[in-house]
Amino acid sequence: MNTNTNPLLVNFETFQDTAPFSLIKESHYESAFAKAIEEARKEINAITENAAQPNFENTIEALDASGELLGRISSIFFNLNSAETNDEIQRIAREVSPKLSDFGNDVTLNEELFARVKVVYENRTALDLTEEQKTLLEKQYKRFSRNGANLDEDKKKRLRAIDSELSQLTLAFGENVLAATNAYELHLEDDSRLSGLPESAKEAAAETAKAKNKEGYVFTLDYPSYIPFMTYVDDRALREELSKAFGAKSYKDEYDNQENVLKIAQLRYERAQLLGYETHAHFILEERMAKTPETVNNFSQEILEKAKPAAQREFDELQEFARNYSDNPVESLKKWDAAYYSEKLKQKLYSLDDELLKPYFKLENVINGVFEIASRLYGLSFEETQEIDKYHPDVLTYVVKNEDGSLNSIFYADFFPRKGKRNGAWMTSFKNQWHEQDVNVRPHISNVCNFTKPTATKPSLLTFNEVTTLFHEFGHALHGMLADTKYRSLSGTSVFWDFVELPSQVLENWCYEKEALEIFARHYETDEVIPLEYIEKIKAAANFQEGLQTLRQLSFGMMDMSWHGIDPTAITDVKAHERKIFNQTDLYPDVESSCMSTSFAHIFQGGYSAGYYSYKWAEVLDADAFELFKQNGIFDRPTAKKFREHILSKGGTEDPMLLYTRFRGSEPKIDALLKRAGLVA
Ligand SMILES: [Zn+2]
Repeated sequence: MNTNTNPLLVNFETFQDTAPFSLIKESHYESAFAKAIEEARKEINAITENAAQPNFENTIEALDASGELLGRISSIFFNLNSAETNDEIQRIAREVSPKLSDFGNDVTLNEELFARVKVVYENRTALDLTEEQKTLLEKQYKRFSRNGANLDEDKKKRLRAIDSELSQLTLAFGENVLAATNAYELHLEDDSRLSGLPESAKEAAAETAKAKNKEGYVFTLDYPSYIPFMTYVDDRALREELSKAFGAKSYKDEYDNQENVLKIAQLRYERAQLLGYETHAHFILEERMAKTPETVNNFSQEILEKAKPAAQREFDELQEFARNYSDNPVESLKKWDAAYYSEKLKQKLYSLDDELLKPYFKLENVINGVFEIASRLYGLSFEETQEIDKYHPDVLTYVVKNEDGSLNSIFYADFFPRKGKRNGAWMTSFKNQWHEQDVNVRPHISNVCNFTKPTATKPSLLTFNEVTTLFHEFGHALHGMLADTKYRSLSGTSVFWDFVELPSQVLENWCYEKEALEIFARHYETDEVIPLEYIEKIKAAANFQEGLQTLRQLSFGMMDMSWHGIDPTAITDVKAHERKIFNQTDLYPDVESSCMSTSFAHIFQGGYSAGYYSYKWAEVLDADAFELFKQNGIFDRPTAKKFREHILSKGGTEDPMLLYTRFRGSEPKIDALLKRAGLVA
């Protein structure tokens, strides 16, 4: 290859078109992005300048196919920015991100382009379209209309003003929460009041103190500092102090968010009304499986009714336990007692030590286990290969084949933490699946995690939590691998938010099944299968205080909907408003100085507005779906075939409720979840 050639801008000529990491240098990205954006603009111009009447092929399909090069380069670059980044990559990300969003806005605001899409959309009933084509057309049309393309000039102007005000307000909201978090510290000169706290948490607090040029220990409102403190510190008055500081963030303090909350809710409502929707939640839920606020509200109420008696029982049990807790009894539980006594009770009921379980979960065994499960369910086989370029030597690469020996996909697995990788675990792809004429282009899927590394004397042994994480991400990976759609923007995990966790969460269920654990949960030294009593304990521990946890999660979802599913213009008192919701769910007495909404970044800063319910929603789906596997056998091929045919292969090609119902025979019901969670007998 010519040394001046940018490897990102030519055909890869690699094994199965995999990304040529060994040839890509950081200096290649910026010029590649510039060129790819230019190409994508040309492709859009070719659509709008087409002299022929707009039709499905020359407009909708052409739009779906546009930006192919840009998509490929973006996926390589941003995947690396998450998994193997450095200062230079981060600098480039800051440089190109605004250019990419400018380009995206130019497409969405392109009136000529919208005019063509609209002609096809309005003529849709006369066209002979497949279900997938109808979905693609709808999706493209909505991308413009939901952004105001159909409004007159005055309303468009108002919409732009709202959008810009909202982006400032949500930014200010987040900055306030951050500032309030950073403004607080609990400084202790010595450890005389820190009994109960594990050494590791103490050390971290000493480090924090050092960084602030202080003696002793400093605790903050960041989770890694806050959570262990509330869980373990015996000193109740100190727990109360920290808990109250946490609850009062951005409420009646220097960084108050009350006005921001009210304004954000009101502007979101106005925006929705402008676009012809009843409320912001109606606007959001149009593109969700749940569809309407009524569905979400009924869903929450139905589960609340079942969970509340269980939660009350668990609360009473905890209260009883705390009264009789000999080291440190308390008469009546307050919020700052919850984590502390729950941990003690959990230890008493299920002393389940991670160290006891870890020898049964050697990483290699778990990987082979999940591959074996994918083989039994879907006939997939995984061969490790050295023919594929890696972006780091730790990355494992696999060629995935179908039962008939044809190529299914390429799979990258990147398991260990290192500098340059962000926290957490995720699934992503380096290349999408789609149909190019008669060719089914196969995807390149990746799982990235942060598991315990092997040492000189010990292999990588996973905690049970890490095992379920591996299954979870591999479930997302299967959604990508088994994708079989015509259009790339509808492929694999390109589905509605409240549907995307079904394939991942459903696979976690196999981690609790004896038949599955026997495949991979074997002691790394003796090969002994994990004892049944451990499995029973894992299951029981998983349901510990499930009622209380359900109530807590529901309360957040209900609070979210209370701001976004109504006309909020009459609300003037943030705290009084949220009390109306929490009165239905709280078992602990209210703390007057606390307010949740003013620091609830999920919904007032991030993109989860009118979406918090989806956590519970996804659990209902996965429990209901897994119930069919339980009935027919967890390795039952016909059941797996149905799941693949109607869900995994279909991506976002049709409404998820339709897809789900075809798989399950009926709409999802909450019963399986309630049973699995032990909330009903
Ligand atoms: Zn997930």
